[in-house]
Formats: sequence, structure tokens, C-alpha cells
Amino acid sequence: MRARRGEGGVASGDDGRRDQHATVAVADCTIGTSFAVQRPKMTALLTQPPSPASLGAPAHRHPSTWLPFDYQRVPGPIRFWLSRRLLGRGVASVSPEVAFARDQPLAAGEAVSWPLSARAALGLSHDLDTARALDPTERLLDLEERLGVRSTLFLPGELAERLAARVRGWQARGFELGLHDVRHDNRLPDLDAAALADRLARIAATAAAFEMRGFRAPSFWIRAPIIERLPAPLAYDSSLPSLRAGTHAGRVAGAGTCRPFRVGRLWELPVSLPVDDDLLRAGLGGDAGRAVLAGWLAAVQARGGVAVYVDHQEPHLSGNARGCAALEALLRGHASAGELWIAPLGAIARHLGFPAPANAE
Ligand SMILES: [Zn+2]
Repeated sequence: MRARRGEGGVASGDDGRRDQHATVAVADCTIGTSFAVQRPKMTALLTQPPSPASLGAPAHRHPSTWLPFDYQRVPGPIRFWLSRRLLGRGVASVSPEVAFARDQPLAAGEAVSWPLSARAALGLSHDLDTARALDPTERLLDLEERLGVRSTLFLPGELAERLAARVRGWQARGFELGLHDVRHDNRLPDLDAAALADRLARIAATAAAFEMRGFRAPSFWIRAPIIERLPAPLAYDSSLPSLRAGTHAGRVAGAGTCRPFRVGRLWELPVSLPVDDDLLRAGLGGDAGRAVLAGWLAAVQARGGVAVYVDHQEPHLSGNARGCAALEALLRGHASAGELWIAPLGAIARHLGFPAPANAE
């Protein structure tokens, strides 16, 4: 069995124990077949993670960094209009079969060890880029509480520090806090060595202060070598889209999978569903967007993967009555179906086997 830790192969369980009752389907994307192995706590994994060359942001700087001032001083609706001109219809115009090209649908009888006998996991996450997202988030959390689900809230560290009491209150209600870098400047891959070391130290300190285990790069703008350097207590990353489409020079690229894989010692939970701003750029808000997401969810279920849902709670994106209603309809359509395990991303990573900080490699 090609089971080993770290780069390249399938990660074994962190505690090394075998659970003879856990039969898991593992797709071998290199030869396009699948086989069963015995593994504790593991769900469907790739035997060969995507190569680093296919991961992460393009080689150039993020366009927002070309401005001589903080791009978030440009009002959100104007930024959205500009991105629509630059990026076109994006991921929403591509089928999930393209996005999950590395994953084979599960054959009849293949099992995946998600809790509640679910066929797939749905990880809910919301990115709170600025303070404008705070009030819509309160309404959203009330909704999720009523529905009995919890989500992960990714915040820039500087925002979390400014609002420490408020975000710790969310944590106390069972919502997970994740780190959206220390500031939303889209510069992480382009920092020089000294600035990167300083940024990683601040990431470690913020994650420790707020008990954050997950990281998401602003604008999904990160590359695999930096994910490998994300410090403890971070244990997972969710920054790499399954499909990165758009103009970043017209290319279509991405992780190509809806299944978790390892990048260094961290779990990568790829962003597998179209993100709200992609849907909105394609004119697919509200119910139309919900219908697209339902189709992608079905594709993830067929592959036994993780559907990572991301929206933005700024009022010009999903932080409004229409966005809230669409999410409610999506969750009501699936919460009772028993085919999805709906959980914060940290719970999904923990199910896969959290590397404890003391065991960090
Ligand atoms: Zn963001």
C-alpha cells in the first residue's frame, strides 16, 4: 500500500492506528481507477496530490497590488464592476466535470467514511474581508443557528484583533474562526524573504491568540510553497480552488479535485464550489446561483469529496437579504437529506486527522 506521510503519497493516519472497520475508497488519479484500503479516519484521498505547478496563483502580482493605495478604499460595487470587466463569467460558466477532472465518480458499493453515513461533506465558510461584513454576518449566524449548522468565519487578523470581543462571542456560539491572513492585501506570495518571515510570525501569533486552525489566503492568492510554510497551530488551508478560471490570462487551472489532499503537513480543503462573486459576475445571484450550486453539490457527492462553500458578507456581494435567503434555501434543501455532512471546515479537517501541534513536522 502506498501509504506514507508528507509529500507525494497518501498520508497515513496521524496516530498510525488501523481501524479495520473503516473501508475507504481512494481514487488513483494517475491511472484512473480506484481501490479500497483500510485506513483510520481517512476519507477519499488522492494517491498523488496535484503537482505544485498546477496549484495556486499565477506568477504575476495580484492586479490589486498595482494600485499605489489600499485597493479596498475603492468602493466594493466599483471593484465588483471592474472585476466583472476583467474576469468575465469565470468558474460559473464551466462544468464541475472540468473542475473535478482528477476525481473519478465513485463506483457502486464504494464507501466513504464521512460522519452520519453521508456521501459527502459540505464545509460552510464565509469570508469577512472588511468591517462592512460584520452586521450581515450576525444575521447569517442567527440563521445557521436556527438551522442547526455551524460555519467557519475567515477574518484578517487585524480585523479580528479590532473586534476581539465580538468574534470571540461567535466562537463561543460554536462558529469557527479562521485566519484570512493578517491583512487583506493580496501580497502574501510576493513578499521578500524578511517580510515573509515577519508575516508568518504574525500569522502564528494571531492563530494562537484566537485558536484558529485554518487559513485562507485573501483572493485565494497563494502558492503551494507558502502553504507548506504556514505555521502551527494552523492545521489546514482552504485557499486553492478546484478550478481557477478567468482571465488570469484566459487560462483554466486549479487543483482539479474536490477531495482533500496534503500540502506539507497541512490538509488542503480545495475551494470546490463556485464562489459568490463568480456567480454574481455571471448574473447568477439568488435562486439562479442556488441552482448552480446544487448541481455542483451533486457532482461532489458523486465523488465522495468535500464541497467547500465560500461567500463574502460584504453587502454588495452576499451580505444582503437575497444572499441570506439563497443560502437558507440551499441549506434547507440539503440539511434534511442525510446525504451531506454539513460542518465547519475545521471539523472536516479534524475528521481527516488533525495533526496536533506537538506532532507538527
Ligand atoms: Zn477575502
